Amino acid sequence: MADKKEKVIIVGSGPAGLTAAIYAARANLEPLMIEGEEVGGQLMTTTDVENYPGFADGVMGPDLMMIMRKQAERFGTRFISKNVTKVDTSIRPFKLWVGKDEFETDSIIISTGASAKYLGLESEKAFLGRGVSACATCDGAFFRDKEVCVVGGGDTAMEEAQFLTRFAKKVWVLHRREEFRASKIMAERVLKNEKIEVMWNTEVKEILGTDKVESIRVFNTKTQEEKIMPMEGVFIAIGHKPNTEIFKGQLELNDVGYIITKDKSTYTSVEGVFAAGDVQDHVYRQAVSAAGTGCMAAIDAERWLEAQGE
Ligand code: NDP
Repeated sequence: MADKKEKVIIVGSGPAGLTAAIYAARANLEPLMIEGEEVGGQLMTTTDVENYPGFADGVMGPDLMMIMRKQAERFGTRFISKNVTKVDTSIRPFKLWVGKDEFETDSIIISTGASAKYLGLESEKAFLGRGVSACATCDGAFFRDKEVCVVGGGDTAMEEAQFLTRFAKKVWVLHRREEFRASKIMAERVLKNEKIEVMWNTEVKEILGTDKVESIRVFNTKTQEEKIMPMEGVFIAIGHKPNTEIFKGQLELNDVGYIITKDKSTYTSVEGVFAAGDVQDHVYRQAVSAAGTGCMAAIDAERWLEAQGE
């Protein structure tokens, strides 16, 4: 049994969740944030963030998240640094579990984000933020006049490769097959771009360097040949996975697992459950847009609770 009933529980602690917490706390909803074990979300794996408004000289991703967390704490947000393991949104008050601990709440804001998929190489983890990135919009500008590669063959890979040509001297697209999954129009743009060279049937086997990325070891699945290519940036663009496992079967999700929100709001298919940030947005995926929807979710929750007489 839960000790007490909460007004709002926020699940997830990236920019969306923390912004929701700031707004909910200032609205006297005394939010409880279950921030997860990977506190701070995707920005914890980036270095300089230069496109978050308010920081003229840029800010380190983890620093930005610490500032947001402090701001949420200042207005009384309480935090639990564990993962939610189970949810029941079929009846109100809703129930959430963290292991054996049970929580009851009138409303939920879901901001569990999405995780970039990685290749799963040890060296890829080691160079994360030091040449390896999963976000060209975030990190592309650090690769001015450098040689970089994008791994993947979907629309994201095409978009990232195109974007990177604004900065990089040369962009390689390394795809494991000999046909893109991307839409024709986006693939054609890439194939026509003189700054981009595509390598088909290519797998990245290892990322090499000392302090930062200097080269990669690639394998051609057709010829079985392996070679080392000098490379300063490696952008992994093999898709994202929304963190919605625990909500499957409870909320309406789209065919790839993102939470569906209604019209231009943060309302989900269950009244009283709101969603903000990357968990419901596979298009923009920016810290600032996530923060914006976090603010919307807190306002939606506050107004909805008021309408329920809570
Ligand atoms: P996708 O799942 O469409 O593509 C992933 C790509 O990465 C595929 O080419 C896949 O190869 C490759 N890949 C997956 N796993 C590995 C691996 N372990 N090693 C090497 N390569 C791998 O993801 P996207 O992020 O590109 O797109 C997601 C959705 O978002 C799509 O519906 C897309 O259309 C949409 N989108 C639309 C945009 C737009 O319209 N502007 C922009 C960006 C995304 P393989 O092909 O062999 O499976």
